[in-house]
Amino acid sequence: MAKIAILERKCTGCGVCAGSCPFGAIDMKDGKPELNAACKVCGVCVKACPEKAILKLETKTSSVDKSKWHDILVFAEVSGGRLHPVSLELIGKGLELAKNVNYQVKAVLVGHGVSAFAEELRHYGVSEVAVYDDPELSYFRADAYAACVEDYIKYAKPSVVLVGATSLGRSLAPRLSTRFHTGLTADCTRLELRENTDLVQIRPAFGGNIMAQIITTNTRPQFATVRYKVMNAPARNGEASGAVVARKLPKAVADCKASCVSVTPIPPKKSISDAEVLVVGGRGLQKEADLEMIKELAHLLGGDWATTRPLVEKGWNTNDRQIGLSGRTVRPRLIITCGVSGAIQFTACMNGSDHIIAINTDKDAPIFDVAHVAIVGDLYEIVPALIKQLKEARA
Ligand SMILES: Cc1cc2nc3c(=O)[nH]c(=O)nc-3n(C[C@H](O)[C@H](O)[C@H](O)COP(=O)(O)OP(=O)(O)OC[C@H]3O[C@@H](n4cnc5c(N)ncnc54)[C@H](O)[C@@H]3O)c2cc1C
Repeated sequence: MAKIAILERKCTGCGVCAGSCPFGAIDMKDGKPELNAACKVCGVCVKACPEKAILKLETKTSSVDKSKWHDILVFAEVSGGRLHPVSLELIGKGLELAKNVNYQVKAVLVGHGVSAFAEELRHYGVSEVAVYDDPELSYFRADAYAACVEDYIKYAKPSVVLVGATSLGRSLAPRLSTRFHTGLTADCTRLELRENTDLVQIRPAFGGNIMAQIITTNTRPQFATVRYKVMNAPARNGEASGAVVARKLPKAVADCKASCVSVTPIPPKKSISDAEVLVVGGRGLQKEADLEMIKELAHLLGGDWATTRPLVEKGWNTNDRQIGLSGRTVRPRLIITCGVSGAIQFTACMNGSDHIIAINTDKDAPIFDVAHVAIVGDLYEIVPALIKQLKEARA
């Protein structure tokens, strides 16, 4: 880190620095230069100052002893009485990363009546499952859950902590990273672990135009959240392994300010992320009524339907059926896109699907770069023809 310092006793207020700054980051106030927020610490003013009254100071950043932090910890989320499947996907990714650096993968469970899930997790290759099981943890209270995971992190000192990018995980992970004054990267789409144990957290940035590689170089642990359906869950081993360790409720839980007054369960809703087959309509559809053929094809294939964002913006669909960075991530066995161009904000959240069939009139449409089967043609001819064939086959 570097910063610019102005030596008042040397400064004559000549204003050369303000005139030289390419970012307009120096204001002259009462005859003296003052830096504003636009300063990029480029150092042009340092060279320009005839009085040598401006200095560029390099500050040393302290770094933790990385060798004291090891292994990968997965926050295994239990909500609504079930182990969220993203937890297994994170364990799968953790196991893959751990191989390179000889780490183990551990899991932490927090809640009431969650011990049974610990036994299940032992079938997925974790070396330890830490369990905080207490009536105080019956409902998710961010500060209470954070106190438990913090307690375990302080004890186990994991180098990497992976949390599902669910509503619960998105509330928990930032609380934890702040407690450890360390970095958190949300919604990672890829993770890699360097030999020096730095986690390369890859995610789309600047509206999906670049894939940013984010590294927490000086602090530990390294927190990352990953959406459901982005990583692969490992196969369940017949034999269980690893230890289950019951942990005492940390005292900090008693100091938590939030309490649960009442609970109104929301009826479980079918999510497009769980669909095995998806038919997707894009802006190639000319009018809202044409979505009916997308729904019909989905229905005949025993699947669900979704759209791109422009159709949500037109009010033809709701956000919970939108695929993409600002919608849902999906990974069905089969996805058929109809009149979808294949913008990165869309493909980044569906390109892990097993079979991708794309229908588009434009042979150069980017969707064909990720498609396994490319159909260059008019969806108004192809979709009705597919519906007709499926109906005939059924009859
Ligand atoms: C920060 C940010 C977040 C975003 N998040 C999302 C997101 O979550 N999800 C999302 O979808 N987008 C998102 N977008 C928008 C994204 O960039 C694209 O604009 C969008 O995905 C395009 O949708 P589309 O493919 O339906 O439309 P278009 O890009 O307009 O493509 C329509 C396609 O239909 C084809 N076509 C036209 N007529 C026919 C026909 N008769 N038969 C067959 N093909 C035909 C055309 O050749 C064309 O390729 C986001 C953008 C930003 C900046």
